[in-house]
Amino acid sequence: MTLGKEIDGKAFAATLRGRIAETVPGFVEQTGRKPGLAVVLVGEDPASSVYVRSKGKATVEVGMNSLEFKRPATISQEELIELVEELNADDSVDGILVQLPLPDHLDDKAVIATIDPAKDVDGFHVVNAGKLAVGDPTALVPCTPLGCLMLLKDELGDLSGKEAVVIGRSNIVGKPMMQLLLAESCTVTVAHSRTHDLAGVVHRADIVVAAVGRPEMVKGSWIKPGAVVIDVGINRVPAEEEGKSKIVGDVATAEAINHVAAITPVPGGVGPMTIAVLLRNTLVAAHVRAGLPAPKGL
Ligand code: NDP
Repeated sequence: MTLGKEIDGKAFAATLRGRIAETVPGFVEQTGRKPGLAVVLVGEDPASSVYVRSKGKATVEVGMNSLEFKRPATISQEELIELVEELNADDSVDGILVQLPLPDHLDDKAVIATIDPAKDVDGFHVVNAGKLAVGDPTALVPCTPLGCLMLLKDELGDLSGKEAVVIGRSNIVGKPMMQLLLAESCTVTVAHSRTHDLAGVVHRADIVVAAVGRPEMVKGSWIKPGAVVIDVGINRVPAEEEGKSKIVGDVATAEAINHVAAITPVPGGVGPMTIAVLLRNTLVAAHVRAGLPAPKGL
């Protein structure tokens, strides 16, 4: 039995960040300022704090400005919306990201709806979701699915005509992933918690994208031999060593590796792509806002 290949998302993301870092000086030269990414963190959620720190570090490393706005979990809806409006009006800010999830008393839809779509580098605003749906190339596309698409194209080249199964239909991953694969002329099926015979549905696919949030739910035997599998899941589970935990994906990789042509590992697959694409989206947004042509090769 031949083992499938592991797709090195970490290396791909490093290359993408390198290309971004090479493009930033040209922007600075033409505009006299650095692109700026503003990240808003509400409350003290430890996972969100780690993400925000990594985003800030990665932003500075490619030569862009990182602005962090930490607010207490007690912030009111009006105060948060006021902050987003200030960032909309601030010319030095090209990208605005409000770290989710927000505390329960805040309405994330209303907050996201306040972000200027031209600065919506997460691609969650309905204007950007609509542009993606109608194939408008000026859409800012959600970072995780765009990162998945980049890995798939790198692995497979032309995706046209491939059977793709996306498991998960969230607005953040599943639905935009479906749109992106459809735009590449794949035949796309979106599976979810009500799907009958998920194993059978997955077995049809040349491309599987698992974005479920259930540890190792997708079994190796479900995978059609030679398929390419993108595992988006990030699930913390107890490790073998007592008291320790580890991160696993939505796919049982140890089994699946015997069936796939290629699969993204967790960690080290999709995760690193998300931040790299966030930087890419910020740089693209900065160019568009400055009236410059979109940077090439990103
Ligand atoms: P959501 O919880 O919003 O969506 C999960 C989806 O999975 C839903 O559509 C749900 O179906 C479906 N689902 C749940 N149970 C089953 C089941 N038994 N069979 C089939 N489908 C099922 O999650 P997200 O999309 O936000 O995230 C998915 C995973 O990806 C998580 O592990 C998350 O941590 C990870 N993630 C990773 C990122 C990265 O950077 N690598 C970024 C974003 C997310 P239904 O709609 O019917 O409820």
